[in-house]
Amino acid sequence: MKTRQDASTKPRAEHLSSDLLWTLVKSSRRLDQTYVQHTNVCRDCCEFVGDFSRDARALGFSFPDLLPIVEQKC
Ligand SMILES: [Zn+2]
Repeated sequence: MKTRQDASTKPRAEHLSSDLLWTLVKSSRRLDQTYVQHTNVCRDCCEFVGDFSRDARALGFSFPDLLPIVEQKC
């Protein structure tokens, strides 16, 4: 499945790491737009963020949704 890709103009985000997500959770921030876009095209990261959020909440952390609700479809 291929869609148009402008590799030159598209911001390239790296795969999300748990380090990055922990930093966000601890500072009560959400993902940068660049990463949100990445999770839209990278199923692995999308699922990773979902699992991570669940685990972190289970541990008692409270934080805003890392992904905008609208984008949350892996
Ligand atoms: Zn990724």
